[in-house]
Amino acid sequence: MIVPFIIYKKRHILIGTIIIFIVFSLPLCLFYFNKQSNQASNGTIENNIEFITEEFHEEESEKQLSDNQSEEKKYIKYVEFNPTYDVLKKTSTLDINSHVKQEAVTFNWIELLSYLAAKYGGDFSRFKQKDLDTLVSSLKKGTSIADLTKDMKYYSYYYEAYSTILSEFIGEYEIEVPDENGNKVFEKKYGFKAFLPIAKNYSFNHYRDFGASRSYGYKRIHLGNDLMGNVGTPIIAVESGIVEAMGWNQYGGWRIGIRSFDQKRYYYYAHLRKDHPFAKDLYEGKIVKAGDVIGYLGMTGYSVKENVNNINVPHLHFGLQLIFDESQKEGTNQIWIDVYELIELLRKNKSEVYMEDKETKDFARKYEFMEENTVDFPIQ
Ligand SMILES: [Zn+2]
Repeated sequence: MIVPFIIYKKRHILIGTIIIFIVFSLPLCLFYFNKQSNQASNGTIENNIEFITEEFHEEESEKQLSDNQSEEKKYIKYVEFNPTYDVLKKTSTLDINSHVKQEAVTFNWIELLSYLAAKYGGDFSRFKQKDLDTLVSSLKKGTSIADLTKDMKYYSYYYEAYSTILSEFIGEYEIEVPDENGNKVFEKKYGFKAFLPIAKNYSFNHYRDFGASRSYGYKRIHLGNDLMGNVGTPIIAVESGIVEAMGWNQYGGWRIGIRSFDQKRYYYYAHLRKDHPFAKDLYEGKIVKAGDVIGYLGMTGYSVKENVNNINVPHLHFGLQLIFDESQKEGTNQIWIDVYELIELLRKNKSEVYMEDKETKDFARKYEFMEENTVDFPIQ
């Protein structure tokens, strides 16, 4: 009798437990289902609101689209930049000297270049010194560039295209210089304020490689200029701007993308050094100034995997993209220009660097720089 009693007792406990479980879980279940159905109905309301808002936005954007259609699509879609180094040097010298010497008539090299481009249909192999001399003497006599170009069909196109490329290359700026006592003092200057992407006292060589075909991945043309140098060479920001992209890219390896303040230029610096590609304290969104150290030359890239040296010859890939409309930033409508001659021109303005941190072996610029458009350093 002892055994059945125990069995009875066990069954009793089991049934009791089940009843207790059902009694306690029933309200919980009801609460849960109630909540679920509430959520479902709320969800429907939210969806409806979203749907209505979306419809509204769609109407709005359709209206905007039709409003813009007439004026929109007018932005420049194609630029080929081919003034020779010789012409760039001559026009920039006329501009800088006339300003430095405070001549009665000052020249704007972008206007001079645009005039010549309009005359030659953009083909600078047709350049004749006589044309530049005639233009300069007309301007010196007081004829305005507007008068001289009023019948040139493409002058405004070239002026806009070239301004987009060159507007921050020459102008007023302040830079530290050493005085007799070896102290650094700021000096106001007029001249080149864009810097060579390779630091002063570091060597490099390059050749005309824009548009050459490359074979990694799929067939792509080369949209920049390769500056061959030693691994670790400090890389310099050509123009001031905001760091827009930073990190690993399958093709570019460790790379930095810097957008100009006016949003129209995107500077691309690629294949930076393995393990230590970027300058200290660089981050996306940071404002950098022309002449700042931003990274170090290397041979990373051509790999899906990060931090891999897959480039045979150490070099900086330097590219300059023009953005007249934000739709041109990504995709198939991109405009990259040949920067070979500009690099030659920028040899005139190099940023001197020193090892700022012996532990991390990080470099920094030696002489501080200020310009009008630098947000945190306005010229007084
Ligand atoms: Zn390249």
